[in-house]
Amino acid sequence: MQIRGLFHIHTTYSWDGKVTLDKLASLCRKERYKFIVITEHAESINDKVMENFIQKCESLSTGDVIIIPGLEFICNEIHIIALGIRGHFSQHKDVEDLINAIHNNGGIAILAHVSYYKEIPYEKLKNIDGIEVWNVRYDGRYAPSIKALRVLRKFKSLNNRIVAYGGLDLHNEHEFGKLSIVMEINDNKQIDYDTILNLLKTGNFKVTNNLIVINFNNISALSLMPIVILRLIHTPLHLTKKIVVKIFKIIQQISNLR
Ligand SMILES: [Zn+2]
Ligand SMILES: [Zn+2]
Repeated sequence: MQIRGLFHIHTTYSWDGKVTLDKLASLCRKERYKFIVITEHAESINDKVMENFIQKCESLSTGDVIIIPGLEFICNEIHIIALGIRGHFSQHKDVEDLINAIHNNGGIAILAHVSYYKEIPYEKLKNIDGIEVWNVRYDGRYAPSIKALRVLRKFKSLNNRIVAYGGLDLHNEHEFGKLSIVMEINDNKQIDYDTILNLLKTGNFKVTNNLIVINFNNISALSLMPIVILRLIHTPLHLTKKIVVKIFKIIQQISNLR
């Protein structure tokens, strides 16, 4: 069975989030999203709020929607998402220290919106578990940016096990569902917190904007070509959705043939 979910979501627990967690949970139920990865700004959270936030995620996670709590830290202007952490910890001055703290807390560390940075301190990020290659807020909803694809290639060359994600960076309700994560789950397997977190950690998912589907975690230089071409043509030509999908499929077929 295929299930879908949303990644990189801010709710009113973040200083700039406009949607409540309750509202998001009910939107997920209505639109049949099975999981949602919340990434609140760490500077908006203290120990007490963290406790309340985790409890709230648990109480809203009933059988049909799983809510995974996470935080987004800003450290030397680098944004790091922490998933699967159980407690709260204070800000760190150094990115490497922050990543270690996330690991010591049982979590995974993901570099958020890779196209946002002027320069990426690869040396400081050698222990990072994942990167958010496509972020709708910075890259748009049509295709990931060429810059981000270049960063993906660089990270993969440094560490082939790094997992690539696509996220919304949602702050407002109208952004809901523009980009989702789809994963395959055995029909007899329980859909629970651990199953979903595990598939997220291991990169067993694809990313879709409801037009094209990309598996960033099984990508060759050649299969990047359709995305690059799509990115180059869609803005200047103002193509319709239907044409974009058609062109993407044709280029994908051609590049697979070679
Ligand atoms: Zn950010
Ligand atoms: Zn964010």
